[in-house]
Amino acid sequence: AAPAQKPEEVIKKYMEEVPVVPDEDCIICMERLSCPSGYEVPAECSQSLQPNTVGKLTKCGHTFHMLCMLAMYNNGTKDGSLQCPSCKMIYGEKTGTQPKGKMEIYSIPQSLPGHPDCGTIQIIYNIPPGIQGPEHPNPGQPYTCRGFPRFCFLPDNDKGRKVLELLKVAWTRRLIFTVGTSSTTGEPDTVIWNEIHHKTEMMSNVSGHGYPDPNYLDNVLSELASQGVTEDCLKQ
Ligand code: NAD
Ligand code: ZN
Ligand code: ZN
Repeated sequence: AAPAQKPEEVIKKYMEEVPVVPDEDCIICMERLSCPSGYEVPAECSQSLQPNTVGKLTKCGHTFHMLCMLAMYNNGTKDGSLQCPSCKMIYGEKTGTQPKGKMEIYSIPQSLPGHPDCGTIQIIYNIPPGIQGPEHPNPGQPYTCRGFPRFCFLPDNDKGRKVLELLKVAWTRRLIFTVGTSSTTGEPDTVIWNEIHHKTEMMSNVSGHGYPDPNYLDNVLSELASQGVTEDCLKQ
């Protein structure tokens, strides 16, 4: 994990104070930017962040009360990354709350429906039950793991292999699963898929998470991108 940075430093790394406050709303607190943020200055925060300090994100240029951004950051996983609440641009490296487990990759000679010209990549995720950490909804309580190991399938072609490499990055950044309430079963405190869809059926499509699906690889690439996992991550 990255060395812990003070929340205030993370905000200042990715936002610069604007001297002239634009005539717009802050979409975090819904107040005018010219009015003070409703959030209080945290005790550990220096005097340079005040309720009326307005900042601009360095790349996308969207503006917010800097205290509102600080409150949003403190509400999240505090991993040193920021996401613009307006355009979703990610600053730094977004990480998730996926519990400990294993990701294994195998090759299957058989083809997937819709991909007759190549074999198949099989991913097996296995996560054992455990105790929730401070980053989870109910710290100290156990979490369950249903339907593990979970088997997933990709076509073994150029695009499928690229998706695989990006899924490995997402796994390392703890973005594939999270702990929460399953929307399928309603069970709370359980390990669930996060925002990156996987195909869990190889030759059937009973759940709707199977093949054929001509848009799947493009869809999962854009889901990965919205978590900050792009081809650029593979060049480093
Ligand atoms: P969930 O129901 O909270 O849904 C989260 C996301 O996962 C949603 O985007 C949903 O569309 C997607 N999703 C739902 N069912 C899926 C499936 N079968 N395959 C791939 N994606 C799916 O997430 P959850 O509780 O983690 O999973 C849904 C259910 O599917 C659970 O009951 C789980 O046990 C079961 N499941 C079982 C296996 C298995 O091998 N037995 C594999 C995968 C999922
Ligand atoms: Zn605000
Ligand atoms: Zn933005």
